[in-house]
Amino acid sequence: MDSPILQDFLNELHLKYKSMRDGVLANYIPELAKADPDWFGICIVTVDGQIYEVGDYEQLFTIQSISKAFVYGMALEDHGRDYVLTRVGVEPTGDSFNSIVLDESSKRPYNPMVNAGAIATTSLIKGSGPTERLVRMLDMFQRYVGHNLFIDMPVFMSERTTGHRNRAMAHLMLNFGMIDAKIEEALDLYFQQCSLMVNCRDLAVMAATLANNGINPIIKDRAVDSRYVRDILTVMYTCGMYDFAGEWAYTVGLPGKSGVSGGLLVVVPQQMGIGIFSPPLDSHGSSVRGMQVCKELSERFGLHLFDLQ
Ligand code: GLU
Repeated sequence: MDSPILQDFLNELHLKYKSMRDGVLANYIPELAKADPDWFGICIVTVDGQIYEVGDYEQLFTIQSISKAFVYGMALEDHGRDYVLTRVGVEPTGDSFNSIVLDESSKRPYNPMVNAGAIATTSLIKGSGPTERLVRMLDMFQRYVGHNLFIDMPVFMSERTTGHRNRAMAHLMLNFGMIDAKIEEALDLYFQQCSLMVNCRDLAVMAATLANNGINPIIKDRAVDSRYVRDILTVMYTCGMYDFAGEWAYTVGLPGKSGVSGGLLVVVPQQMGIGIFSPPLDSHGSSVRGMQVCKELSERFGLHLFDLQ
């Protein structure tokens, strides 16, 4: 892809959707409702390390659900595919991110992208105690972004004090024997992973690392074992966009993951990573501007995985 064409197209998309006023801010905690609805950044990082960006690409926000895909990779590295599959399924639910549905027959949450499955996945992270688990998790995310990351403490505290639904899911999973007893520790780690601060350039580098089979294209270090990249991308493709996953796969045709603070991460395997940030959300909990930008990028450059023309 010609670089001036790509940069020009990003500028064009930014201009086109900047004035869009659709969508609402997440408001389940006060910190997210304080976001500026005008924030809008787009960044693309190619597997050979070129960076294209426009708008508020340096604005920090909390990663929220986008973290789930990366923690899933870590659980796979800690335990291997066979074991992780016995604890968390890979079936899309077609339900919203916080739905309280569990696969009681197989004693697993449905997939690692809905909250129940993400909490169960986080509970698998190895470590001698909460500090070691958090340090290991931060190290993992830092390999993907290539620099230090920090937790937004007010967001973490809010998630922790108001996360009754997530806490209820953890208790249900404990009741069904789907998760180990230390649920408060697992929930804390889950709320911490959701509260990591990133910008949309970080998202693009993380996505480009997956696109590059696990090697960060900027710092050239391996972030995740290449064996598990396909597993991460598969669950992103089938379950990453919650109850919009099917339509997303149909129209955009790429592995993607959205988060309630307005981040959107998309992987174009062997080509590039896309990171978008714009806080107003659609009814499925994904960034309105982000969705439009992804549809247009996929169409303009024929990025849909099954676009064979
Ligand atoms: N912290 C949020 C929760 O667990 C993440 C949800 C999301 O980004 O979809 O409710």
